[in-house]
Amino acid sequence: MNAEGGALRQARGTSSGEGALRQAQGTSADAGAQGTLPVRPELVGEEPYGAPQLDVPYALNVNENPYPPSEKVVAEIAAAVAQAARTMNRYPERDAVELRADLARYLGHGLTSDDIWAANGSNEVMLHVLMAFGGPGRSVLSFAPTYSMYPEYARDTHTAWTTFPRRDDFTLDPVAAVDAVRDQRPDVVLIASPNNPTGTAVDLDTLAAIADAAPGVVVVDEAYFEFAHAGTPSALELLPRFPRLAVSRTMSKAFAFAGGRLGYLAGAPAFVDALRIVRLPYHLSAVTQAVARVALANADEMLAAVDRLRAARDDLAAWLSARGLQVAASDANFVLFGRFADRQAVWQGLLDRGVLIRVVGPEGWLRVSAGTPEEMAAFKRALSEVLEAGVG
Ligand SMILES: *Cc1c(COP(=O)(O)O)cnc(C)c1O
Repeated sequence: MNAEGGALRQARGTSSGEGALRQAQGTSADAGAQGTLPVRPELVGEEPYGAPQLDVPYALNVNENPYPPSEKVVAEIAAAVAQAARTMNRYPERDAVELRADLARYLGHGLTSDDIWAANGSNEVMLHVLMAFGGPGRSVLSFAPTYSMYPEYARDTHTAWTTFPRRDDFTLDPVAAVDAVRDQRPDVVLIASPNNPTGTAVDLDTLAAIADAAPGVVVVDEAYFEFAHAGTPSALELLPRFPRLAVSRTMSKAFAFAGGRLGYLAGAPAFVDALRIVRLPYHLSAVTQAVARVALANADEMLAAVDRLRAARDDLAAWLSARGLQVAASDANFVLFGRFADRQAVWQGLLDRGVLIRVVGPEGWLRVSAGTPEEMAAFKRALSEVLEAGVG
């Protein structure tokens, strides 16, 4: 499908539509000529995951860092790619040991390359986790609402997907969460902290109680950790106590490196070894390894906008509250707000004014990423107009 088709489908509030698989399966009106492909039944009618990639003046829909790298870093990336090109006839270093050592140094906490796994985005890291620890007859538990990719990793690995609800303010009830883990005995527990799409951070005591109760592995997805309010501790602190706990991170958000596709995980060496079994050979290209190392060598600069984006997030939350809207407390670089009787109409009204945000989360809510001052001004102007027109 093209991006506009996706946007139109999203605008209409449906997620299926005339997808290629549906046609291949012969379930859509004009499928007759296509024949039938023996697609796995659970994939029939599915759409490829992804927010619409529309060419709009203000894209605030996928939680990117809006500040591009400096010309100095651009030049270093170009030089690293040229260097990698000189040996492009060879396969890359399969275990990405130097990159993993750089990632360990960045995380601190006494970690070394043996404690680190890396892949093409934390999405691939998470898929590796479910390939290694999930699978047929096994289950994964998460706390809803949460990241909409999680059920897809579960589906793709034949792992049963189960959720336990968060409280109305999207926090976890620690006692109920531990009870859910004890009752369901999931093979994998996945907890996003700060959570997407709500921005909610989970405190370490709750994470420790869950890790204590879990019979299988627990992965804390800290994709947005760098945006958390000052003093928020990382689940990395719990690693020495829980050998079946791991923490995943990404360079896609705070690190301003979404296009580089680099996600990583910290855990015990045995945990990492399990992931090494299921990865494809040479999964991290020589270019990916080289450019990620350049970005890490310039970590201070890559992360320089984080304070500004946190301030933009807090300002955005305060502004939305002052408009009488409900706002979920956020430790990430986005804000979930609502609630609207017709969120699709609000989303479309903003898009008509050049501002793209995300329809995601429970019915009635919308998510907007923190951006530059210009982007924030455009969003506020557009939302004011939409609300004053009585939409939503
Ligand atoms: C954006 C995001 C990721 C990162 O995905 P990448 O594959 O690393 O780009 C992971 N987890 C959550 C919850 C996210 O929102």
